[in-house]
Amino acid sequence: MLKATGLQKSFGDHEVLTSIDLQIGKGQVLALIGPSGSGKTTVLRCLNGLEIPDGGEVAFDKGPTVSFTSKTTQRQAQVLRSQSAMVFQNYNLFPHMTVLENVIEGPVRVQKRKRAEAIAEAESLLARVGLAEKRDQYPHQLSGGQQQRVGIVRALALKPSLLLFDEPTSALDPELVGDVLRVIKELADEGWTMVLVTHELAFAREVADEIVFMDQGVVVERGHPDVVLRAPQNERTQQFVHRLL
Ligand code: ATP
Repeated sequence: MLKATGLQKSFGDHEVLTSIDLQIGKGQVLALIGPSGSGKTTVLRCLNGLEIPDGGEVAFDKGPTVSFTSKTTQRQAQVLRSQSAMVFQNYNLFPHMTVLENVIEGPVRVQKRKRAEAIAEAESLLARVGLAEKRDQYPHQLSGGQQQRVGIVRALALKPSLLLFDEPTSALDPELVGDVLRVIKELADEGWTMVLVTHELAFAREVADEIVFMDQGVVVERGHPDVVLRAPQNERTQQFVHRLL
């Protein structure tokens, strides 16, 4: 479904991604784990066209293939945006818009879908995550867990082929984490294809088909969750996993 090859990214002199290869099949869940600063968020942003890699390629089965060079423009990278939708760590909802307006903004403004149709779909998605009665409230009136569920609904409303989650529960109070993880698990069970950056290793083990461990801009180890999380081969993976599990 998605193949990323040789992704490279530097910010100034700092090489953040050295040469990242990722592959994900339709309906699969890939969990990206690793220490803070290892480049996980940057990978997601590159897959989504929010960041322009300096080199490498991102290819979707039924969509664009983008080969990056130092001359790639924002506009060229943006064609990737139509394939995936991102759920952010800090929700990134528009504070001056109601829940419903947040959800229909992309479908109506960007995808030019009919407003009535977008509203009906948004209402049904909000009901699904238990937020039907919040449609006319503003983000500041919701808990963090509710805001993140709106963030997930906003991503789903775009009908992307790939969902990208960037540490979706790390800003939440512990008692609110479960509701958000439950929604993500349901989406995985329904067959959504997703890349999940997370520090919740127990959840990653439950939901992921493959774990990719990154450190300092390279993929150090990858494989089945039972192997990477229970019997990692690489010393750096061992240290990381033992600290968190
Ligand atoms: P965390 O788990 O803390 O979110 P991460 O693995 O997701 O970390 P990234 O956010 O991808 O790591 O950051 C990797 C490195 O790139 C960090 O050193 C970060 O400071 C740097 N970096 C990321 N974005 C930028 C930017 N826009 N400008 C300069 N440096 C950046």
